Amino acid sequence: QVRTRIAPSPTGFLHLGTARTALFSWAYARHHGGQFVLRIEDTDVARSTQDSVEQILASMHWLGLAYDEGPIYQMQRLERYQAVAQQLIAEGKAYLCYCTPEELDAMRESQKARGEKTGYDGRWRPAPGKTLPAIPEGVKPVIRFANPQDGEVVWNDLCKGPIRIGNKEFDDLILVRPDGVPTYNFAVVVDDWDMAITHVFRGDEHINNTPWQINLFEALGAPLPQFGHLPIILGDDGLKLSKRRGAVSVTAYEEAGYLPEAMLNYLARLGWSHGDDEIFSRDQMVSWFDGEHLSKSPSQWDPAKLEWVNAQYIKAADDARLAELVRPRLLRRGLTVAPDAPLPGMCALFKDRCTTLEALADWLAMFFGPVQPAEADVAQHLTEGAKAALAQLREALVALPEWTAPAIGAAMKTTLAATGLKMPQLAIPLRVQACGRPQTPAIDQVLALFDRKILLDRLQGL
Ligand code: GLU
Repeated sequence: QVRTRIAPSPTGFLHLGTARTALFSWAYARHHGGQFVLRIEDTDVARSTQDSVEQILASMHWLGLAYDEGPIYQMQRLERYQAVAQQLIAEGKAYLCYCTPEELDAMRESQKARGEKTGYDGRWRPAPGKTLPAIPEGVKPVIRFANPQDGEVVWNDLCKGPIRIGNKEFDDLILVRPDGVPTYNFAVVVDDWDMAITHVFRGDEHINNTPWQINLFEALGAPLPQFGHLPIILGDDGLKLSKRRGAVSVTAYEEAGYLPEAMLNYLARLGWSHGDDEIFSRDQMVSWFDGEHLSKSPSQWDPAKLEWVNAQYIKAADDARLAELVRPRLLRRGLTVAPDAPLPGMCALFKDRCTTLEALADWLAMFFGPVQPAEADVAQHLTEGAKAALAQLREALVALPEWTAPAIGAAMKTTLAATGLKMPQLAIPLRVQACGRPQTPAIDQVLALFDRKILLDRLQGL
């Protein structure tokens, strides 16, 4: 039974890298008919917030990455970590260490001074015939893992292939801090064991933690999951994605008007491929995502590509759905949108031109609030002659028995015949005045979507 998990730390929004890991973990579990678990790694008490937990859960929900178990909170499992640590102590696989932070600093300084690798020197690690230091008064101990001192840790990474690292590189990891809170490496192993996780996908910044974790699994007699360390996502400047250089959270893209399925489709292609396929559904991804074709090298965050993917999904989206997605964006701009406004028809007419829902809202805003044409467009197109023609058109529109595109088109033809103008000489000024820009889809269709009174007001008093 395949079981995967995503284990975000609630110290901010759901990061794009974590979302990608969540997607891969989810898809892998679904592909194999297994389960996907969500765990909140909230042991960094100072930086974890409930607000962040809610943001992360909301983003998971928005992306449609449903989990079968969770959220499970590490801070609610402190007793379990204590119990496992005590068991390791009893078995001689962990021990109490009474080093103070000052002592550890001094240790590091003198190692540096001697040009040695820094790390815990094992002074409290019991060994046959070794006399341990006297227990100092008033110092609360940490629990350390007695990491094997010889041999090497070997695993076959699902992304990176075979990896081997000598145990000499690793010192004795702290498992539990004096306040009883476990470290990341310890909690993650106890949890992955208890939750029967079979496949661990995560960012490759954790690759140096994995040997400790593997040694811990072995010390516990726990079955070892498989590991897949996903290469980092770089910004388009080749540097690590960071907040200072653009949006790094799922929430930011949701706000900017990306569709969740476009986001998922784009994320799927970061570090995984299925031939040349660019646009595919989540079901297709699930059926294809078998853990093969994972990239070994970093992938590049490409905002233009994401925008392109989003445009494809907006174009293909159902108009009624787009209407519901764009409505709150119009309201947020302070516009009044009548419940019976023909939003789906508006979306149908403009969606081909839009890469985001915000861009769609930019277009649709003209139907509900005043427009501000550029001065240059006004000067070029709203000549005295054009204004006179628009006034005449307005009369014809007032008199129309019905407010439809064909009727509006007929009124325009009547005005052309009466003024001797050519279609562009009427249509372009009309666009500038009614829509605030000289180019739009077919103007009779655009006008038919307007509330008649709003449009007639806009053509008045020229
Ligand atoms: N809380 C860790 C992170 O956010 C999870 C790492 C893991 O999946 O083991 O990076």
